[in-house]
Amino acid sequence: MTLYRPVQAIIKLAALKHNLQQVRKLAPKSKAMAVIKANGYGHGIQRVANALSACDAYGVASIDEAIALRQSGLLHRIVLLEGLFSEAELPLAINHRLDFVVHAFHQFDWLDSLSGTQHVTLWLKFDTGMHRLGFDLSDVDKVAKRLSKLKCTAQVHLMSHFSCADTDEAYTLTQLQHLLDVDKTFQAPKSIANSAAIQRYPQAHLDWVRPGIMLYGASAGLPEFEAESIALKPAMVLKSKVTSLKWVEAGEAVGYGGIWQAEKPTLLAVVAVGYGDGYPRHAPAGTPVWIHHRKVPLAGRVSMDMITVDVTELADDIRIGDEAVLWGEGVTVDEVAEKCGTIGYELLCQVTPRVPRIEIEE
Ligand SMILES: *Cc1c(COP(=O)(O)O)cnc(C)c1O
Repeated sequence: MTLYRPVQAIIKLAALKHNLQQVRKLAPKSKAMAVIKANGYGHGIQRVANALSACDAYGVASIDEAIALRQSGLLHRIVLLEGLFSEAELPLAINHRLDFVVHAFHQFDWLDSLSGTQHVTLWLKFDTGMHRLGFDLSDVDKVAKRLSKLKCTAQVHLMSHFSCADTDEAYTLTQLQHLLDVDKTFQAPKSIANSAAIQRYPQAHLDWVRPGIMLYGASAGLPEFEAESIALKPAMVLKSKVTSLKWVEAGEAVGYGGIWQAEKPTLLAVVAVGYGDGYPRHAPAGTPVWIHHRKVPLAGRVSMDMITVDVTELADDIRIGDEAVLWGEGVTVDEVAEKCGTIGYELLCQVTPRVPRIEIEE
């Protein structure tokens, strides 16, 4: 028997499947590349891949993730979203039948070594305004020339990435137009839409959509009313238990640094979760925790293994061993993220390996 601290991340497979269906409803004509980088946004890459087997391809960030998926018997297309990091990855990518992004000329140098009997599937990435990875728009002809000189057979896709799909419509539509202009040269299947664009810009769906965060049921940064209209389900419930209860007097300071003081006699619950589990240390007092179907406020600094919560309003009912949900039920990961000045993406990715992921079908 394995004994754990009470903290657990419940992973709901049905929610992942439901969220992929929502992607299909929004983008019925496009193929869907499920983005499962960063260990499936913290949910466990293998389990997420299995749950999302109805997708058309997977997108990952590194070749070790991709090879592990192949070795588990996965036959889907797998795309290395950041491309190859070194020439040594090229034979591995070919042997494991991995698609990869080509975003810079040094990667073409590596491809030049391939022979006429070899076959690669490339996703040419153009920088339409994000200014991170991708060929400059002014290099379209140069890229086309390098492509035509390859001895290997190359199946080509075009892609780009939106930088402001959640905030700036004009900029987003300009990026889209740039990709369509690039396509006049290549006439290839195209992909640009992340979760925010899938939800907001049907004209950007093109041949392949690339949902990430929405598959996990968290917000892609859109206003709440827009996100709610799509009915995504959170795939992770991070929860733990109350391990201690204690009354403190008005004026008593709580936790490291004594930064929080009780204003009145206060019942404090200690919950077994902390930054060692990935609960953000910078969560301020007042960050909601879901206990007994109520939002109750965090009080005092987050410790490595524990938090303290003001449960005075639950004094009549609360008991040691009661469940406390940090996010995923009653409280969304986005609410917690907002309090902490970050985004749900980061909190999901940061759940540490010591937190057991418990998968449930429902
Ligand atoms: C991470 C990523 C996505 C998914 O973005 P979300 O905002 O999580 O939907 C799509 N495309 C690329 C290239 C990515 O790196």
